[in-house]
Amino acid sequence: MEKMIEEEIVLSVIIPVYNEEEIIPELYARLTSAVKEVTKNYELIFVNDGSRDSTLPQLIHLSETDPQVFYINFSRNFGHQIAVTAGIDACKGEAAVIIDGDLQDPPELIPEMYLKHKEGFEVVYARRAKREGESYFKKLTAKWFYRILRKSTSIEIPVDTGDFRLIDRKIIDCLKKMPEQNKFLRGQIAWLGFRQTAVLFNRDKRRFGTTGYPFSKMMKFAMDGITSFSDKPLTLVTRLGFIISAFSFLVILYAIFSHFFLKQTITGWTSLIISSMFIGGVQLISIGIIGEYIGRINKNVLDRPLYIIQNTNIKE
Ligand code: UDP
Ligand code: MG
Repeated sequence: MEKMIEEEIVLSVIIPVYNEEEIIPELYARLTSAVKEVTKNYELIFVNDGSRDSTLPQLIHLSETDPQVFYINFSRNFGHQIAVTAGIDACKGEAAVIIDGDLQDPPELIPEMYLKHKEGFEVVYARRAKREGESYFKKLTAKWFYRILRKSTSIEIPVDTGDFRLIDRKIIDCLKKMPEQNKFLRGQIAWLGFRQTAVLFNRDKRRFGTTGYPFSKMMKFAMDGITSFSDKPLTLVTRLGFIISAFSFLVILYAIFSHFFLKQTITGWTSLIISSMFIGGVQLISIGIIGEYIGRINKNVLDRPLYIIQNTNIKE
């Protein structure tokens, strides 16, 4: 089948998918009809992030029947952010939409996002007005995370937004020049600046499958976000060190004073144990925080490719 579309691609849609077999048919149908409202020159790029179900065969089948469907198949699971990055590297459109493959982000919002883009915004992100069907814990941790991130970095990362957004070619080209290993795309995009705006939507609950972001992955993601955009944790550790040292110095002075002048010697090992345990804890946390940064430096020094493609139907 002839694959090449000669005209310029107006809109690329990047969809990371990891074990989403139940939803692929509906996803494809809804994406196609939403994007067709914008243009007929579009491409759908599915990035299969090491799914172990029938996601890949379905994608291959779609790409054989529809010349506007492309797939990138990773050699293993590399994670959501990396999958999106591969889509960004491969897309050819003048603009691209990043959207989750579990239909928690409604494709029907794409025409509205595109209108905003036409008004002159380089980034149109979709802000969640309401989150349905997600655990209280997830909502609470997400809320805290965004607030902490906002306080600890100097860049304006919009709250309550995921990666569902439309980005202009200018943003795509800039992102390709940011090779960091620990991807935190929404931070990188905010860091880039340009004109950014939001459209509101209600986030539906996931109907099939399970979340690919269990607690451990969420923690790593949060640490990536904070460490790649802020030195505040390191500053905090140093400050804490000074405060605790100053406090213990005062306690020492008081102990000497009371021994020589008040003729009272402070007895008991309880205070001793508690204070040394406290200091020990603070030291461990501090070393841990420093370690988080060093681990990331190490990863970037190794300079490995971000992902390995096993096969794809995208031609250079
Ligand atoms: N995903 C991925 N690789 C992963 C985990 C998730 O490509 O290792 C995809 C997943 O298929 C979905 C999107 O990333 O399209 C968002 O993941 P998920 O819905 O699990 O995250 P949540 O909505 O729970 O934050
Ligand atoms: Mg989801």
